[in-house]
Amino acid sequence: MSNTIEFDREHLWHPYTSLASPLPVYPVAKASGVRIQLEDGRSLIDGTSSWWAAVHGYNHPTLNAALTAQASQFSHVMFGGFTHQSAVQLGRLLLSMVPQGLTKIFYADSGSIAVEVALKMALQFWLGQGQPEKTRILALRKAYHGDTFAAMSVCDPVDGMHSLFQGQLAKQLFAPAPQSRFDGPFLEQDAAALRQLFAAHHQELAAFILEPVLQGAGGMRFYHPDYLRLARQLCDQYQVLLIADEIATGFGRTGRLFACHHANISPDILCLGKALSGGYLSLAATLCNDKVAQGISHGEVPALMHGPTYMANALACAVACASVSLIQQGQWQAQVQAIENQLKSGLAPCTSYPGVREVRVLGAIGVVEMLHPLDVALVQKRCVALGVWVRPFGNLLYLMPPFVIQPDELAILTDAVCQLSKAPDWSQSVVLPGA
Ligand code: PMP
Repeated sequence: MSNTIEFDREHLWHPYTSLASPLPVYPVAKASGVRIQLEDGRSLIDGTSSWWAAVHGYNHPTLNAALTAQASQFSHVMFGGFTHQSAVQLGRLLLSMVPQGLTKIFYADSGSIAVEVALKMALQFWLGQGQPEKTRILALRKAYHGDTFAAMSVCDPVDGMHSLFQGQLAKQLFAPAPQSRFDGPFLEQDAAALRQLFAAHHQELAAFILEPVLQGAGGMRFYHPDYLRLARQLCDQYQVLLIADEIATGFGRTGRLFACHHANISPDILCLGKALSGGYLSLAATLCNDKVAQGISHGEVPALMHGPTYMANALACAVACASVSLIQQGQWQAQVQAIENQLKSGLAPCTSYPGVREVRVLGAIGVVEMLHPLDVALVQKRCVALGVWVRPFGNLLYLMPPFVIQPDELAILTDAVCQLSKAPDWSQSVVLPGA
């Protein structure tokens, strides 16, 4: 095992990590259900779903069987010129679930690429409409949409993890982060700011991109569904496309199948990822409605100019079919509801701790926002000692467990988060972003 760690330390980059002073890593031997077993035999209850993807837990028999069955036929063929059952079946499933009006699917290889494709669709749409001046994207402060360059351009330009690249990124337009809380009143200040930006800039705007209801890696902030209704209305009024990035929120995480359902709206373009393939393989999708698809087809270049090598990878599509079918069976609703109730009661003690700013819960997402940034290495060491896997970022300790977690397992997670947030001295030596 020490060889594993030594080689890793010497040669492998980890997410958002310095090679000069890497954070500790923990070698994994196996994972099953909600438990991750380390090489040294310790077993951890997973509070992250491996960055919000493994909603059915690890080593799931149905997902394993889907992979094996596909691998016994073929694992991948190029999607240029070929198609296959797994891609088609997944497409059928997705179209039966997503908000109404979305009809076309582009399979991408990661969430960030799904966002790239969404932005490209929007730009090509306006080229097709003979309005090449519509090139800017409206995004939200506190947004996070991925790590590639176009995706970075629509992340929070100041607080986000990409402020480093500001000089190299397209200059987009930003609305203030919504202040209206999910379950509070919809504030006029949010509406006014958005109306003003649309009125002043609509001529140059190609699209408005947002993470519906939950701003995830930009701060785990829940906001009011009426904000989405207004966004849809303004996009229609001013001829701007609406892009919903449901990479984190899709497939039940916020308590509705898609976060757009909280507001009963349908975007022009929808990005999916993470839970799409149940945490097994990297797969994402960008969907659009007929209007966008036809608009692109009218352009000087009528083809959508994107086509990755591993597009519609058959193994990823097969495991995604199995994952999405499990979601379609509907058990997630009771599971997420039970997790929400238990997160609310289990994290409630944290509200009284002096180092805690706020505790908030929506669906299978529980967030404890601290007053000060957390030291990732220290917190993780403590978590591992407590038998749980939690990865904080910034001021945030949060839980997004697999939907299959049992009450006794979730109690261990919430108890651990209570203990961690009670300790006042987890402040900043290394502060790194997450997710
Ligand atoms: N959009 C959102 C809302 C996300 O949460 C993430 C990942 N945290 C991404 C895009 C990027 O996805 P990926 O890491 O698969 O590139």
